[in-house]
Amino acid sequence: MASENHPLRIGFFGGSFDPLHNGHLMLVDEALRSGKLDKLLLCPAFHAPLRSEKPLLSGEQRLEMVRSLCAELPELEGFDYEIRQARTCYTYETLLEVRRIHPGARLHLLIGNDQFQKLDQWKFNRELLQIAHLLVFSRDRTEPVPPLGIDPLPHTVMNNPLVPISSTEIRRRLLAGQSVSELVPPVIHEKLKTMTFEQTTSL
Ligand code: ATP
Repeated sequence: MASENHPLRIGFFGGSFDPLHNGHLMLVDEALRSGKLDKLLLCPAFHAPLRSEKPLLSGEQRLEMVRSLCAELPELEGFDYEIRQARTCYTYETLLEVRRIHPGARLHLLIGNDQFQKLDQWKFNRELLQIAHLLVFSRDRTEPVPPLGIDPLPHTVMNNPLVPISSTEIRRRLLAGQSVSELVPPVIHEKLKTMTFEQTTSL
C-alpha cells in the first residue's frame, strides 16, 4: 500500500509494440517480480521518435493488444495517452502526464539495452532522469554500459533472461504468412488472428 512514507512504485513501459511479443512480456514479468512495482503502465507509442517507418499495426490495434495483455495481470494498466495524442510524443512529456495522474509516485522506466545505448539521442533525457529511475534490460550478451555524457544517470541493470525476439522479425513473418505463435503471448496470438494489416513500401 502506498503512503507518504511508502510512495506508490509505478513502472512505465513504452514502445511501438508492433506487435507485443514474448520479449516485452519478459520485461513485464521481471519488472513486477524484482522491481517490486505496485503498478506497471504499458504505453504504445503513436510513432516512436527515433523510428522512420510507420508501424504495421494501427495505434488502435496496438492499444487493443496492450489492453488484452493487461486484462491478464492486475498490476498492468494500458496507458493510451500517446495514441490519443496521435503524434510523436517524447517519453519525458508522457511521464509528466503520469505524474499528474499519480502525484508523489516513484517512477521507474523500463528500457531495453538497445534503447539505453541511444539515450544520448533522446529529447529531454536529462529532464527525464530527474523524475524517473531506469530499469535496464539486456537483449543479448552485450553488457549494458551507460552512454557517455549523461550524468547523473540513475539506473539499475536487471539480471534478466535473454529473449531473442523482436517485433521486426514478427512483422516479417506475418507478412510472409508464417506462424508467430511461438513468439507472442497466446492472448496476442488470438488478437493477431482477427486483425488485418497492410504492407507499406517501407517494411
Ligand atoms: P522493433 O523490432 O520493431 O524495433 P522491438 O522488438 O525492439 O521492435 P519495441 O516495441 O520497439 O520492440 O520495444 C520497446 C522496448 O522494449 C524497448 O526499450 C526495447 O529495447 C525493449 N525490448 C523489446 N524487445 C526486447 C527483448 N526481446 N529483450 C529485451 N528488451 C526488449
